[in-house]
Amino acid sequence: MIQINRIILKYKIIVLGNIFMKSLTTLIFLLIIFTGNSLTQEFNSENLYNSYQNFKETDIRNKIFKHAELKSKIKNIKKNKIFKVETAGKSLEGKEIFMLSIGTGKTKVLLWSQMHGDETTATMALFDLFNFFENDKEFTEFKDQLLKKIKIYFIPMLNPDGAELYQRRNELNIDLNRDALRLEFPESKILKAVRDSLKPKFAFNLHDQNTRYTSGNSYHSATISFLAPAFNYEKDINDVRGNTMKVIVNLFEELSKYIPGHIAKYKDDFEPRAFGDNFMKWGTGSILIESGGWKNDEEKQFIRKLNFISILTGLNSIANKIYENADINVYHNIPFNDNLLFDLLLRNLSVKHKNKNYTVDVGINRIEEYTKDQTQNYYVGKIEDWGDLSIFYGYDELDLSGYEIKPSKIYNIELNKLNELDLNKLMKEGYGFVKVDTMNIKREFSSIPFNLVLSNVDVNVEPKYNGNANFTIWKGKKLCYNVINGFIYDITDDIYNQNNGIIFK
Ligand SMILES: [Zn+2]
Repeated sequence: MIQINRIILKYKIIVLGNIFMKSLTTLIFLLIIFTGNSLTQEFNSENLYNSYQNFKETDIRNKIFKHAELKSKIKNIKKNKIFKVETAGKSLEGKEIFMLSIGTGKTKVLLWSQMHGDETTATMALFDLFNFFENDKEFTEFKDQLLKKIKIYFIPMLNPDGAELYQRRNELNIDLNRDALRLEFPESKILKAVRDSLKPKFAFNLHDQNTRYTSGNSYHSATISFLAPAFNYEKDINDVRGNTMKVIVNLFEELSKYIPGHIAKYKDDFEPRAFGDNFMKWGTGSILIESGGWKNDEEKQFIRKLNFISILTGLNSIANKIYENADINVYHNIPFNDNLLFDLLLRNLSVKHKNKNYTVDVGINRIEEYTKDQTQNYYVGKIEDWGDLSIFYGYDELDLSGYEIKPSKIYNIELNKLNELDLNKLMKEGYGFVKVDTMNIKREFSSIPFNLVLSNVDVNVEPKYNGNANFTIWKGKKLCYNVINGFIYDITDDIYNQNNGIIFK
């Protein structure tokens, strides 16, 4: 009996405990929903940052996407009737260049992206922005107010032919951003005609820049760079340019909360043929946003989010004239872009030459290449510089004082046995190349983290300036690191990543 009572009592406690836990969970859940909702209603960059996932266009996950994808997305947007969708014109190859607009306000703002075909970060962000405006639950009051004050026009992907080839220039290899005066090409004509018909007060000119730029003389990558371009060689500041600088101050201050030190200013020399500079001359304050690099964000998905926040912060600043109170000196004090980063910087390595050792820093960059069909990217690691690189920085850096560089080894195998390779074993034994018994191979890069060498190729494994970045790193007689195609592996770790090698054909 006592036993049974005890069991019943124990059971009751468990049941009560369960009920209590369930109620507590529900309460916490409700609290999260409640505070979550009320948080996202107020417009500020923190709330944008925290709720970004609700707007991110999940169909676009990588930086390489084509006009066909964009077109089908825009077709869906058209159906929802939140945006007015027009065809602004056609590219040199006849691809539609779309313009979307929203809002009823008097002040007009124009945004265009991907004037350079391989600069896609902002285009991804614009699709997040379209979702933001289509969403009828969050930031509704903010959006209502905003769209009463401004009317926004978007041209995503101004250069669809360049995007198709994943290259900067258009189909005829013309840099459209040097065609603002002559207006020879259809893409340039469209942009100029849109500007002249709308006469927007402000414009956003959205680009990508070198991922190895730094913010001034620092190890911080220039993740976002801004510019209020000059409209003459004297770099005078009139109202249009001054107001643009002030909007940028708002953007700089908001973004500094998330990427302090990683914001820079693009070089401000007057370029008479560029659109940004001419927009300024024509009376539209053009805000240049350049998406640079961020460690381990090769697909630029974090930088895409920063674009989303920058653009909305800018629209809010323009609509509510927040910029009018900005301190223009903050703009002047933003450091300019500098070019001081390597992808990997190995300091103080010892290199043997004719039986004598020399100390060198080795600067390695992984150059992004694309398959012939421009649908996939891969990396080619190069020793871009060596010697005294003490004024430079690396996204990744190692001080290797006391370590010595030696060539990596070549492993021979039959092509059909490639899948049986013990990659960890090869890595730990200092191999960097796998020679296969074939003279042709369809792939354009190696999908294992080793370089493939075709049977008819003699590959020089000696590490050298401007050569491919393949070598091993030793401390005395002990192998410590293996560098293959610019990626460094600590040989005490197992291989877990998907880095590519290249194919020596
Ligand atoms: Zn560009």
